Amino acid sequence: MVPPAAGLTLEDPVTAVPGVGTKAAGALRSPLEIRTVRDLIEHYPRRYEDLGDVLPLRYATVGEPVTLIGTVTGWMQKRPRGRKLVISEARVRDRDGAWFTVTYFNQPWRERSLGPGTVASFSGKLETFRGDPKISTPDVQVLGHEDQEVDHQRLIPVYPATESTPTWKLQTWIAAALEELPPLDDPLPEALRDGHGLVSLDSAIRGIHAPDDATHADASRRRLVFDELFTLQVGLQWRRVRLEAGTVGKHNGPVDGGKADAFLDSLPFTPTDAQSRAFTGIGADLAADRPMHRLLQGDVGSGKTLVAAWAMLCAVDRRRQAALMVPTAVLAEQHHRTLTDLLAPLGVNVLDGVRVELLTAANTTRERRRILSGLLTGEVDIVVGTHALLEEGVRFADLGLVVIDEQHRFGVNQRVTLREKGEEGQDGAVAPGDRRSAPDILVMTATPIPRSLALTLYGDLDVTTLDELPPGRKPIVTQLITPDEAFRRERLYDFIRGQAADGYQTYIVCPLVEDSEEVAARAAETEVERLREGPLAGLDIELVHGRMRPDDKELAMQRFRRGDADVLVSTTVIEVGVDVPNATVMVIENAERFGISQLHQLRGRVGRGGAKSYCVLFAGWDGDGELTDEASERLHAVAASTDGFVLARTDLDIRGEGALFGQRQSGLPDLKLARLSSDLPLIEETRGAAQRLVAEDPDLRAADHRALRADVLRRYRGGLEELDALATG
Ligand code: ADP
Ligand code: MG
Repeated sequence: MVPPAAGLTLEDPVTAVPGVGTKAAGALRSPLEIRTVRDLIEHYPRRYEDLGDVLPLRYATVGEPVTLIGTVTGWMQKRPRGRKLVISEARVRDRDGAWFTVTYFNQPWRERSLGPGTVASFSGKLETFRGDPKISTPDVQVLGHEDQEVDHQRLIPVYPATESTPTWKLQTWIAAALEELPPLDDPLPEALRDGHGLVSLDSAIRGIHAPDDATHADASRRRLVFDELFTLQVGLQWRRVRLEAGTVGKHNGPVDGGKADAFLDSLPFTPTDAQSRAFTGIGADLAADRPMHRLLQGDVGSGKTLVAAWAMLCAVDRRRQAALMVPTAVLAEQHHRTLTDLLAPLGVNVLDGVRVELLTAANTTRERRRILSGLLTGEVDIVVGTHALLEEGVRFADLGLVVIDEQHRFGVNQRVTLREKGEEGQDGAVAPGDRRSAPDILVMTATPIPRSLALTLYGDLDVTTLDELPPGRKPIVTQLITPDEAFRRERLYDFIRGQAADGYQTYIVCPLVEDSEEVAARAAETEVERLREGPLAGLDIELVHGRMRPDDKELAMQRFRRGDADVLVSTTVIEVGVDVPNATVMVIENAERFGISQLHQLRGRVGRGGAKSYCVLFAGWDGDGELTDEASERLHAVAASTDGFVLARTDLDIRGEGALFGQRQSGLPDLKLARLSSDLPLIEETRGAAQRLVAEDPDLRAADHRALRADVLRRYRGGLEELDALATG
């Protein structure tokens, strides 16, 4: 038997593909992040150009963008005297025999890639030169050669491309790679494929790059999307099984007449129906035999903190501890204060009360030592903190409940680390084979998404949604102000004075500066000076930014909170969690630099009291005042809706999934083709399939699950500790 040709493998570097040299490889690596043959063939078309739709030249209009197909018949080079310019001109004949000219400047290599006889499509603006139709520097797609039949019905893939790696080059290389690759193995067992009506992987990969027709392209895409979603779901189900294996809950269910009850009785208002439903759901989880893994999602101001506080008191009633972890120190301070206020009727840090502590990097060594020792002895009931909670020295007497706010800012592994601090048997206290008890986990997010999507992205969590705001909230009036209405800026400052005269307060958020709180801090300082001396002279203006000493920051916040200051100028340190009901105006400078959910969060800082509130977005005030389409879409979306669910959905549509959920950070695999906004049916289909598969073969050890198992592990790129353990175990 003849051994199979060595051929190309998916793990080869792209330079193994005929025609891809080291220079091309460099351009592929950055910014397209294509390194291997697999990366290359997983670089999927953005859309297809249907050559059946391309009209001949005689129907084209001069001055308009056109796509023309024709055969190159020859080239001419011109070098205008006295200038360093090479003009390459091709004569092209279309299928009716009409002629046009194509021109490139200083790109003599075009003559090589489009030699005489090449059939290609040319897209650009149609002009005339001395009566001759002409296109300058068009986009080109090589379709073939006049010697071969060019199929005019073909769908030509159009790839996400860059200047140095245009789509037609990608098309050539991908075609070359597919030519050299032996048939691809299929990780999905045949029965599963048949059950879901899927084409083979080999057919799908080839079909998505070179479909015969739209149906072929759709079937190919469906298979590839299925793989992305299915492996994602298998990983999540795997993790859930793994997390729960061998553990039991601590039974933190509500105690009649306990502190949690007293807390609800002490509230000056009635919980919303949504909050009551959350108490019931979470209460049942806390009481259950297996540890809770629940996501609590709700719009800004829907009252998540209250629900978390109640759950933590349930643990305290069981003589256990609760930890609340948040992403920033400012937010930790805010939560600590909110909790202290909320729990005040029960007595905080007094005998018989609840002991609540704040643990951040800002603690003095002495405080830190005191808190750590309180956690270890069990004297501290509730600790609020940042990543500082994850440090090794932080140990608990009996951690019953872990609450994580703004969970998307933490990685999965951080969640696991904190949870482990509450597991018994870390020191071998549990006999092998016995079930360890593990703390309950509640994660919270203010970026709510439709329930079905949440179930997908957080497939290992149960979901509670607070879909209702406390009564009496007035919608916030949002206005977008661009420089062509500069007079409105002056009017706004008058408006702020008016609000101050009526006893209301204003936030002014300074431009977001990429990765540099220092530059942002300086900008904020300058802005405060400008306002104090100019448009807001006479008002009491405070400043907070991340570069201030914690004491100074706290002092400024305190003055604003108490109503001593009229205006708070800040960097985005106030993004989440700050609660000053008397503030009615939120001004955001350079709003175009913020994402939808950030703007929505910032806006959520006002409208928390009974008074009518306003949010003003200044956009396009630096540079040439032009907003990109994307920025404009974003800002108009925020101006048009105050519903976090609607905005999350818009964000998903505009930016795609990666941006919204920070998948890399959360350790989830990339979704290259799947669109969470439109692939919902497949999401549900794959979730069900994954649950069945993992129930039947939890470790995917069966012979016909091996390849699938490898595929799941590869896609998670070692992003999940538990999966790593499975890979080696
Ligand atoms: P979230 O964390 O979801 O953004 P918070 O928990 O900070 O919302 O609550 C926002 C504000 O609403 C707080 O001032 C809180 O005291 C108040 N609040 C919470 N629940 C209710 C309720 N049921 N009725 C009235 N006010 C409430
Ligand atoms: Mg909150």
